[in-house]
Amino acid sequence: MKWPRSKKMENYLITCNIHKDETITALCNGHSELCCSRCVELNHSQCSKVTPINELTDMQPTDLQGLSVELETVLGEIKSLQISQELSVQALLRTYKEHVAVMIEQMRGNLNFNIDDIDECGNSYVGTSGGHEQYLKEEMCRSVLFILNEFDNITVKELNEMRDEVISIKGSVTSSIHKCTSLHNDLSHFHEFVQKIGDNKELCLIASIKCKHIIQQALTLLGKSSKVFNVQSITKHNVRIPSDKRICNIGGICVLPDGHVLVVDCTNQNVKMLNQQYQVVSHWDVNARPVDICLITPSEVAVAVNDHDSKIHEVQFITVNQGKLVPGRKFQLQHECSGIDHHQGVLFVISSEELYKYTLNGKQVCSLYRSFEYKVYKCAVSPTGDRLYITSLWLDNKLHTLARDGTLLATCTDPALYYPRGLHVTPAGQVLVCINSWPNTVLQVGWEGKSKLATLATEEDGVRNLWSVCYSSTASSIIVGLYRDDNILVFRVE
Ligand SMILES: [Zn+2]
Ligand SMILES: [Zn+2]
Repeated sequence: MKWPRSKKMENYLITCNIHKDETITALCNGHSELCCSRCVELNHSQCSKVTPINELTDMQPTDLQGLSVELETVLGEIKSLQISQELSVQALLRTYKEHVAVMIEQMRGNLNFNIDDIDECGNSYVGTSGGHEQYLKEEMCRSVLFILNEFDNITVKELNEMRDEVISIKGSVTSSIHKCTSLHNDLSHFHEFVQKIGDNKELCLIASIKCKHIIQQALTLLGKSSKVFNVQSITKHNVRIPSDKRICNIGGICVLPDGHVLVVDCTNQNVKMLNQQYQVVSHWDVNARPVDICLITPSEVAVAVNDHDSKIHEVQFITVNQGKLVPGRKFQLQHECSGIDHHQGVLFVISSEELYKYTLNGKQVCSLYRSFEYKVYKCAVSPTGDRLYITSLWLDNKLHTLARDGTLLATCTDPALYYPRGLHVTPAGQVLVCINSWPNTVLQVGWEGKSKLATLATEEDGVRNLWSVCYSSTASSIIVGLYRDDNILVFRVE
């Protein structure tokens, strides 16, 4: 049964999204946008096909029932995303509190240990003169002061760093929760409209077009965009710096929201920061081989460092402060690592055999995936955190998609995936893989991880020795790092 539609709902439907005092009069087919007369005048005067709405209603009837089902599905998914994000914030705050408690407990332990030490010393001098007691008191004071100072200088600095991370991550999750809420409201409105709309053809048409747009927005927020990138141009940029002794080897890339690009150079053992013109503006020398990098907050990254020979396996945090790279805290890993990614306070670190989950303070939560038959290499987490992608190399050469708890959801077995090296997921959920074999290619895989959507570039476009990949929303570009090459490649995409 259709409920009578209200005037309010009708007004909401026919009002231009941009110009709130105008009504929709036409559809631009090229942009597939609903327009008011001002929109047409301002943005679509050059467009070849702008059709008045009343002429469009002869088109085939819109499937409102189908849209209604789609709306219901998306509404449910947005709701669960909101819930999972609220849980993320709680987990993040819990991690921080636990870490503070551990640090204080550690200091208490140090103090007790030292006092016991001095006490023991004192006991062996029982019966000696009072001058010795005085000495012991002074020694105890010095010792306590030393421990407190160390706590101030090292531990408090580290806790402050972590507190800033927690505040920043909590802020971004909260704003994402707000986006969910507002989109949920809009979706619910449309869901109601679709039930009540009746059979006015013009209104049905407008409602269906607006519905499709909003469902698209929701899918983007859910990291389920299937939009295929279209490469416009490819440019090369040299990232070698005078102190680099060998040819560069860019194993990992990440982009800050302000457009700066950070790359790790495995052979020259440094992290380089590039400006928006892809010129190196700062660098920081790492103590060992940096293998991958991921964004933690808008001004902080985590670098996975792995040196098989010197047995250094650690995660090093680096802050960007006034155009400089400043090293912060770090934590040790009890295993080798080849890749790292981050989602709302959770770190995913991959070794050649296993994918691990870590908290921000370096506590290993669990192992999510284990492979004895083939080597796994890179990992990337979906924008909502509900899917994990891993690439495998020897004997397997596939892309595996895991659920949050490590359950295998899909395996992409496309033969084009032979020797996948770089792996990245965009904020809309598009999965990018770069292949370092014959031929070298950059592929886009669907968010479900089941099949290849497109080949974005091949050797015919001059791409070779592909090693790492990352998407920059600010520059609408895909950035590709190379193996034994001083250049990076930048694909302008639409
Ligand atoms: Zn308008
Ligand atoms: Zn147009």
